[in-house]
This record gives sequence, structure tokens and C-alpha cells, in this order.
Amino acid sequence: MTAPPAYSDVVARIARAAQACGRDPAEVSLVAVSKQQPWEAVEPVLAAGQRVFGENRVQEAMARWDGKADGLTLHLIGPLQSNKAKEAVAFFDVIESLDRDKLARALAEQVQKQGRTPRLYVQVNTGEEPQKAGVIPAEADAFIATCRKDYGFELEGLMCIPPAHEPAGPHFALLAKVAQRNGLSKLSMGMSDDFETAIRFGATSVRVGSAVFGARSG
Ligand SMILES: *Cc1c(COP(=O)(O)O)cnc(C)c1O
Repeated sequence: MTAPPAYSDVVARIARAAQACGRDPAEVSLVAVSKQQPWEAVEPVLAAGQRVFGENRVQEAMARWDGKADGLTLHLIGPLQSNKAKEAVAFFDVIESLDRDKLARALAEQVQKQGRTPRLYVQVNTGEEPQKAGVIPAEADAFIATCRKDYGFELEGLMCIPPAHEPAGPHFALLAKVAQRNGLSKLSMGMSDDFETAIRFGATSVRVGSAVFGARSG
């Protein structure tokens, strides 16, 4: 089976964007965001060799991937309620939406109980949007320190979702700056509309949904 053209196109654009700014394309991984996609859209991308997928809801992800997750890396990229920490720790390989003390505590408790540690990203609300998850930039350093000191987390990196109607570049630059001053090397930033910009600003993973799978149904 040949790879779906939209998927191949995104993979090629990632490589070109990396090369254009002197980066190794292997430094940038694609998280294919399969949320709200029918299995007919996901299956060909899986068959083409994609192994890293992103989901924004715990329940929906478990329904889609349970029994199929062998050899895959599944990222939770949506907001997480602390009462779902148990499922999230059991199911996901990476949790990208750590953004508050209560959630950190719930995750730490589950990590201890289950002896399983997902890789963790702190989400930063770079645009300080009230409706959006994420710690605000002014509180990021303190929260990162708390995660490390109080909960013993070995954080992997930072994640952001820039405001929809603003140039994304300054938000990516801000995330990179917060990461650098906190000794974090991984940056999850960039979606369908702006992943090439994100790569220019140092993204190490881009979360791309509609450009890979087509418009979402829900
Ligand atoms: C849905 C979603 C994406 C993918 O968005 P597209 O514009 O379809 O690429 C990326 N990141 C997060 C956090 C999302 O919720």
C-alpha cells in the first residue's frame, strides 16, 4: 500500500523546513494527531509506518488504540483532569499537558502506584488566554521547579498552543526561551498551519492533525 499523499507531503515539508534552517530532519518528530478522525483515515497512515500519534481525550484515545498500541508512542496533548490521572499514566507514553500543581500531585501518585512513568511536558499558555490550559509564562519557572523538586519528575520539555489569530513565531520564541533557561531541550510546538515556523524556532516535535488526516469530523 502506498502512503497517503497528505501524510507523505507533511513528512517531506518537515524535512525541508528542518534543512532550510540547518537542522537535521531527524531532530524533528511528527506527532500525528488522530483525535476525532475516523479509523479509515488513521489506518493508512499507520500502515505507512507512522508510529507516533497524539490524542486530546483520554477516553477517546483508549477506545481507539486499546489493543492496537503495541509498538506505538501515544501522546496526550489535550487538557487532563486530575481524576483521569490514573488512566492517563497507565495508557499514554507521553503527557504534554502538565500545567498545575493538583495535576502534578495526581500524576506523581499514579507514577508511584503503577511504577510507570510517562514522559512529561509542561504546557505553557504563552498567549495567557483565559480559556486555554497551560501555566502562564511568569509562573512557568516556579512550576517547573516544583515538578522537579516536590514531585521528582524528570521533565522532558515544554508544549504550547499559540493563540489562533496571532502570528505564532513570537509564541514559539517565548517557549524556546523558557525551555532554555530551565535546561529543557524538547519543544512540542507547531500544528497544521504553522509547523514549519515552529521548526524554524526549534520545535523538536510538531503535532499535526488535519494536514495529515484531513478535516476533523467533530
Ligand atoms: C488538535 C490539536 C492539534 C492538531 O491540530 P491541526 O490544526 O489539525 O494540525 C495539535 N495540538 C493540539 C494540542 C491539538 O489539540
